[in-house]
Amino acid sequence: MQKLIVIGNGMAGMRAVEEILKRDANQFKITVFGAEPYGNYNRIMLSPVLSGEKTFEEIMINTPEWYAENDITLHVNAEVTEIDRENKIVKSANGIEESYDKLLIATGSEPFIIPVPGKDLDGVISFRDMNDIAAMEDAISKYENAVVIGGGLLGLEAAYGLQRRGMKATVIHLMDTLMERQLDPSAGALLKNELEGRGISVLTEANTKEIVGKDGRVTELHLADGRVIPADIVVMAVGIRPNVALAQASGLEVERGIVVNDQLLTSDEHIYSVGECVQHQGNVYGLVAPLYEMGKVLADHITGSDNAYQGSVTSTKLKVSGVDVFSAGDFSGGDDCEDVVLRDAARGIYKRVVLKDNKIQGAVLYGDTADGAWYFQMLKDEQDISDIRDLLIFGQAFASGGGASQDPIEAVAALPMDAEICGCNGVCKGDIVNAVNDKGLTTLDEVKAHTKASASCGTCAGLVENVLKATLGDAYSEVTVKPMCGCTEHTHDEVRAAIVEQELKTIPDVYQALEWKTPNGCSSCRPAMNYYLLCAWPGEYQDDTQSRFINERAHANIQKDGTYSVVPRMWGGLTNPKELRAIADAAEKFNVKTVKVTGGQRIDLFGIKKEDLPEIWADLNAAGMVSGHAYGKSLRTVKTCVGKEWCRFGTQMSMDLGVKLEKMAWGSYMPHKFKMAVSGCPRNCAEATIKDFGVICVDSGYQLSVAGNGGIHVRANDDLCLVKTEEEVLEYAGAYIQLYREEARYLERTAPWIERVGLEYVKSIVVDDEARRKELYARFTHSQSFWQDDPWAKAVNEEEAGAEFKPLAVMTAQAAE
Ligand SMILES: Cc1cc2nc3c(=O)[nH]c(=O)nc-3n(C[C@H](O)[C@H](O)[C@H](O)COP(=O)(O)OP(=O)(O)OC[C@H]3O[C@@H](n4cnc5c(N)ncnc54)[C@H](O)[C@@H]3O)c2cc1C
Ligand code: SF4
Repeated sequence: MQKLIVIGNGMAGMRAVEEILKRDANQFKITVFGAEPYGNYNRIMLSPVLSGEKTFEEIMINTPEWYAENDITLHVNAEVTEIDRENKIVKSANGIEESYDKLLIATGSEPFIIPVPGKDLDGVISFRDMNDIAAMEDAISKYENAVVIGGGLLGLEAAYGLQRRGMKATVIHLMDTLMERQLDPSAGALLKNELEGRGISVLTEANTKEIVGKDGRVTELHLADGRVIPADIVVMAVGIRPNVALAQASGLEVERGIVVNDQLLTSDEHIYSVGECVQHQGNVYGLVAPLYEMGKVLADHITGSDNAYQGSVTSTKLKVSGVDVFSAGDFSGGDDCEDVVLRDAARGIYKRVVLKDNKIQGAVLYGDTADGAWYFQMLKDEQDISDIRDLLIFGQAFASGGGASQDPIEAVAALPMDAEICGCNGVCKGDIVNAVNDKGLTTLDEVKAHTKASASCGTCAGLVENVLKATLGDAYSEVTVKPMCGCTEHTHDEVRAAIVEQELKTIPDVYQALEWKTPNGCSSCRPAMNYYLLCAWPGEYQDDTQSRFINERAHANIQKDGTYSVVPRMWGGLTNPKELRAIADAAEKFNVKTVKVTGGQRIDLFGIKKEDLPEIWADLNAAGMVSGHAYGKSLRTVKTCVGKEWCRFGTQMSMDLGVKLEKMAWGSYMPHKFKMAVSGCPRNCAEATIKDFGVICVDSGYQLSVAGNGGIHVRANDDLCLVKTEEEVLEYAGAYIQLYREEARYLERTAPWIERVGLEYVKSIVVDDEARRKELYARFTHSQSFWQDDPWAKAVNEEEAGAEFKPLAVMTAQAAE
């Protein structure tokens, strides 16, 4: 097996690796060096992460588990500083050396920082990676004024994100119109109006002279014309430069980028390069579509087939919700070009198609971009449009004889099979239709998983869904509830029902009975199945730890540097000197980097090596502490205020009740994490009204409420009922938890669950139907009799515990280096 090393764990490098694996997973032993501390994420989607529309977890493309599953060694935090071409060895800044047969350089770009005075002040950043997002998040939480230098695609997405998260955002742009490289002046002006209407200040023809600060941090930005803009953070988004330093130092041929031929080979026949760092036929690219095309050609060549990269034509869209902008090709015009323009100021629509010799040279669409893919396809195909010229600007539906039809499904149905639907990933309509027909796909997620269509910037998701609808026809509407995953046609609810009705008691039994399409399921259905069986057959079903996520398998939380954090349980948020001493001793002994009090009133110890986990658990166990399940889809914390025990306002013993609730419910596995809180009076110091189950003590008893959560989409609890005694609180809580355990879908928190099934439904069972409440409570108590054992103590006492943690420890230690 040959050794392939990849330098750069970004979008181009990893896509090339995926393509290689698709062709032949056994030809190379692959090692990846990444300067960043994560698996591989979708950089494009940093904009929606900043604006709060996505979480970082949602934009991960390949997690550390994916590398392990594909037998790829990933060195994170490992910047390669030297390539010894003679001996075929790469060396990283943190001392790792590996030899290669083939090398792939995919180091991407570096943001350009304009060399103005003040550029090094704190708060002056670029917009390229997760560190930049962290700096922006920090500014969002502390400051008011954000200035973005650069009114291009990236700068506008940064300004939109910062403004959406509550900052006053100002865009400083040197040219007279926004996105001048993608938009013509008319569309640029419409865009400026739209952004200003949303509260973003846009200053065009504005030249930054100096960035000024106080105590080392930016406070103002000075323009050449004397204007002064208050700035607590300055984001430079003025362009990128191929990251070529390493290639240059290794003696490879470098001009603007690393020079590659049509097979993506550099001037060294053992070294390939793809991504923003390369220069092909004089061109460098800053969008993913060309980089993915490069990845395909490279994969063909390295695995022994013929293919050639011919360069790419690109199109762009702006990812600002509600602002539709599309641009492709060259629209600078000229003597031999003709413009066809449609302007509808009242509807905010502007379309311009530039023609030369009856072929499309460029297109700019603003306000209605539905026909973008159609124009782009004709542009790439160099199609003669003479026949449809008079209708061209009105879009595909008119031009293809559909008259005034605005039905988007008909429009998609009329597209040829080679029409490109997803620009980023180069997926054509035919690819999607074939995958839907051949693989029986019925949902957007499945199409995404099988074809990668809409798996990058996501702006084509609507179009992909329309192709799906057009292909499935009437069958589409029948598919209202998604199957559990690509391994089955059955929904979560059907699988659960079958487990109980057919008394299926093992994962293979379920696969057999429900005719699973894959022999061993996948990472999505296995954990769900494990949970459903565990919930249905307490005491009988043997937990399958291999079907749990890594955090649950390791009984600790994996952190971004590959180490773990450990949270001992503190019942109701209470502790004592003995426990604190044990925590302090453990923190010292295991060289804990950070000790943090969590939002749920527990103490979190960070930076534990995987091989040290059994030992630290043993030490904490010895002081009487058990796992806090901070890693689990299970009861996490019960937060309490001091209540009647100490507070002048408390009407009940909230700490005492919190401890009782936690002692009743700890250890129970659930569809998702679950938190409770008890406040001693309506002042609600324990914040019980944003928990999965909340108790507020009042004069007349206990007000119970359910299905709240914090996080990005805050949801306040719904009132469940008022009860009089502590015993009733426990019974209602247990019954409610059991109903959630038995009926929610795996990975569905209580908030979306209750919105799906309705509060009245839950009340009708837990509150109004005493018999069912008691049955549920009894089933919960029965299940708890098997699950209230501490997973830490179990792992410490099991002989194989050491073996369980050692092999993984080697891998993680390597990853953490
Ligand atoms: C906020 C944002 C929004 C974007 N939106 C879009 C969009 O809508 N559409 C679109 O098509 N494109 C978009 N892009 C551009 C797109 O993300 C890039 O074209 C793409 O990520 C480039 O891929 P790459 O692999 O060449 O570089 P990268 O994804 O940057 O990967 C390079 C990796 O190499 C690592 N590296 C560098 N040097 C070393 C070294 N010596 N050793 C080890 N590791 C190293 C870097 O840390 C990095 O992780 C956007 C970019 C950003 C930042
Ligand atoms: S919720 Fe009421 S009882 Fe509890 S600490 Fe606050 S004021 Fe005191």
